[in-house]
Amino acid sequence: MRHFAIVGSGPAGFYVTEALTKAYGDQARIDILDRYAVPYGLIRFGVAPDHQSLKAVSKRYDKVAETAGVRFVGNVAVGVDVAMEDLTSLYDAVILATGAPYDRKLGIPGEELRGVIGSAEFVGWYNGHPDFADLDPPLDGAAAAVIGNGNVALDCARILAKTGAEFGGSDIVSHAFEALGKAATKVITILGRRGPHQIAMTPKELGELGHLEEASPVVDPADFPPRAADEALEPGQRKSITILREFAAKPVDSAKPKRMVFDFFAKPLRIEGDGKAERIIVERTRLDEDGRAVGTGETYAVPASLVISAIGYSTPPLAGVPYDDEHGHYLNDHGQIGDGLYCVGWARRGPTGTIGTNRPDGYEVAEQVAAALPSGSEGGKAGGEGLDALLREKGVEATSFDDWRTIEQAEEAQARPGSPREKFVRPHEWMKVLGR
Ligand code: NAP
Repeated sequence: MRHFAIVGSGPAGFYVTEALTKAYGDQARIDILDRYAVPYGLIRFGVAPDHQSLKAVSKRYDKVAETAGVRFVGNVAVGVDVAMEDLTSLYDAVILATGAPYDRKLGIPGEELRGVIGSAEFVGWYNGHPDFADLDPPLDGAAAAVIGNGNVALDCARILAKTGAEFGGSDIVSHAFEALGKAATKVITILGRRGPHQIAMTPKELGELGHLEEASPVVDPADFPPRAADEALEPGQRKSITILREFAAKPVDSAKPKRMVFDFFAKPLRIEGDGKAERIIVERTRLDEDGRAVGTGETYAVPASLVISAIGYSTPPLAGVPYDDEHGHYLNDHGQIGDGLYCVGWARRGPTGTIGTNRPDGYEVAEQVAAALPSGSEGGKAGGEGLDALLREKGVEATSFDDWRTIEQAEEAQARPGSPREKFVRPHEWMKVLGR
């Protein structure tokens, strides 16, 4: 028998667990730990609430959680409730699937002003992440800006632009739904430091902007290279550019009161305002021969009382685990950090790729684990029983997958009309549902 601890119950954690169950059959016991009483990590707290089809992947994770030999152990924070050394002594292998929940910093003056927030904060706020329930983003200004040209920037801009009716069928939390319903936002500027050809936005997500009830995308045709240059792009990127070109060709829909303005070749230099964000000073850029943005010296101001930087994420450092400061994830060699210590997903390779990218990633790491600790071999580790004893000793109340089901049912029972659930946002609310 082999004992494995997976730290983190997001997509990466579930895919590597699935792979381990296949590799070991009944010869492994696997505990999936999470600091929260509720599972799914990015699926619950990161994927946009109006993208329910993406969230449906959690049904597949449920099957994994219900596999014999697998346990969900919620409400246990590694590094707080239990130390990494506890886990490495209790389990044959520990696999870190902690994702990348921290915002990368812009590193420009004015970043500390009120109204300047990271996308992890804003996304966490509208998705019911306990750390950001009290964020209270300023939504009383007419102008907002999102920095970055990736899918997260699109998520943030779209959520800011949507009407209450457009959240039908979503699981946006009530505090965000109500605040956004009263928002005064009219112009959302999406700042990209490079050009249309360099966006990291995918066609489906970009296409959604063309169908918003109250917002119309605005793209300057002058920002594009000659159309022939699109031929060299890979097909997905070419599709995205075609959508952007369509936006640029269409007259702005005057019946729609909101604008979503793509401002390309615009590098933020600083954020200014009197105690709070009022404007971003940006520098016009051009691309050098390596495709990097270089400043032209021309600057201008983009008004914004809400500034969301959506420029990527990093993994939380853990005491005793080597960390790659430059790339913001654990130092690893194809997922191996050290003897009996591995990482998967964004904690392994940084915040790139779709949810599905984590599947082959998890299978690859599980293969390495299985090669190092062949199925049928023994490690003599205490595993889950040892963890339970340690948690009892420390007075930590872990939650099980059945507990999550109880919370889930309670969330579904109090959903407002048209929404699949109303999430409980704070850890004490989860425990209250469980009568603890
Ligand atoms: P991303 O795709 O890496 O995009 C980050 C963006 O930030 C890039 O446009 C980058 O520009 C820009 N940026 C970085 N540093 C900057 C700076 N200092 N100043 C200005 N701009 C800066 O990251 P993401 O949007 O956070 O998404 C993370 C991953 O999740 C991606 O793989 C994404 O596709 C995925 N995701 C998918 C969905 C979906 O499928 N619906 C939704 C959300 C996220 P440069 O290119 O110039 O560096």
